[in-house]
Amino acid sequence: MELFRLTIAEAAGLISKNELTPLALTESVMGRIGALDSRVGAYITVTKDIAMEQAGRLSAGSGNSPLHGIPIAIKDNMCVKGVRTTCASKILENFIPPYESTVTTKLQEAGYCLTGKTNLDEFAMGSSTENSGFFTTKNPWDVTRAPGGSSGGSAAAVAADMCIAAIGSDTGGSIRQPASFCGVVGLKPTYGLVSRFGLVAFASSLDQIGPITKTVEDAAIVLNAIAGGDNRDSTSAHNAIPDYTAVMSGNLQGIKLHGLKIGIPEEYFIDGMDREVEVAVRAAIEEMRRLGAEVVSIKLPHTAYAVAAYYIIATSEASSNLARYDGVKYGMRVSGSDLISTYMETRAKGFGQEVKRRIMLGTYALSSGYYDAYYKKAQQVRTLIKRDFDEAFKRVDVIATPTSPTTAFKIGEKADDPLQMYLSDIFTISVNLAGVPAISIPCGFDSGGLPIGLQLIGRHFDEAAILKAGHAYERAVGWYERRPSI
Ligand code: GLN
Repeated sequence: MELFRLTIAEAAGLISKNELTPLALTESVMGRIGALDSRVGAYITVTKDIAMEQAGRLSAGSGNSPLHGIPIAIKDNMCVKGVRTTCASKILENFIPPYESTVTTKLQEAGYCLTGKTNLDEFAMGSSTENSGFFTTKNPWDVTRAPGGSSGGSAAAVAADMCIAAIGSDTGGSIRQPASFCGVVGLKPTYGLVSRFGLVAFASSLDQIGPITKTVEDAAIVLNAIAGGDNRDSTSAHNAIPDYTAVMSGNLQGIKLHGLKIGIPEEYFIDGMDREVEVAVRAAIEEMRRLGAEVVSIKLPHTAYAVAAYYIIATSEASSNLARYDGVKYGMRVSGSDLISTYMETRAKGFGQEVKRRIMLGTYALSSGYYDAYYKKAQQVRTLIKRDFDEAFKRVDVIATPTSPTTAFKIGEKADDPLQMYLSDIFTISVNLAGVPAISIPCGFDSGGLPIGLQLIGRHFDEAAILKAGHAYERAVGWYERRPSI
């Protein structure tokens, strides 16, 4: 058996029965990385020594978490104490954090093995990993294509079985869009459900950490481990955390969706969307109807303004968050003739083009005289978008849309046109503005053999509904069984 192909649920079952050791599983995954990652480029740093040491230690005991001995990759914008954390930026190329993020602390308590830190668009700004300051990750389904972004390294690592699961972050789609492009599952939790402590901030009111996995069930298992209030993140919610796998128990093949109302927003089936994406998503909705769900048409009238509002809010917050990289406190330092020139030269050399573009846009939007016209207006639009969802969720439990208007595009195809790149997140961005949870699930393939993603959006803190609907759909159709032949 190729152990690296296992899901978390499968591996955990074998480990708990002593039929598999964390060491054997981790060895298999690390071997897979050694054999494949030169072609995919999912990892910035591979932590084989750490993984093997953790696995060896865990093999001696047994844990009560299903993550005991599971090899997991972490996007390289989350701090792991003592392990280089770069954000795929030259400015942090040699940064070794002296502290641990809350998410990785929780994973450690659950007994995970760290396979390494995965590639991303610099500071998570992008949709293809082409903005990485180091190299571009390839899509395992077709290495001439982008894996999506910004969590492209994490999604590619899961798709190519170079980890059993991965962690990503999502500010405007960065978990869901790469999951869709790579044919895996990606969950962006409700804003505040997972602590952001130790996540390098991009746009703090939008950023959320979540799992990228092979199945919906695995996403629920990881969410169980990482969700929960944290006093070190003042925006984290201190709600009681349910067992997210509970909605999946019972007969795995036979979960029905009777009583579930699914809304289809007409604004999400737009001109310019790939025909094959639309056909696959509509077929997925039909399948959920067959499973017993009631499907109704809804409206999210302010959808057209989401991308514009997002790029003002996200860049404004980024311009403020990224002010800390000045060559003084940590990271790269290019010494100039005085303090100001040290700041300027460090930032000029350390940041890539897209990051600079966003800092300039955000600084402009926040400047006095323009603040009311741009930033304040964008926040008002954000409220309208959130209200659209509040209204819709009075009528339905789950909203179904495509995750992305296209399948994976060619590397280089959109690299010179930032606006085109921004539009690839047109279906994911509103969700972050509203703070609601959403999951991307494979729902078929286009004629070129590239995966297509279905997005299910839920009410605030109702991850259970989208996990249940997603799981029922996934088991009924079985797309997750198809893997890239890389
Ligand atoms: N692609 C979007 C952007 O470039 C979203 C990125 C993200 O979610 N981190 O901002």
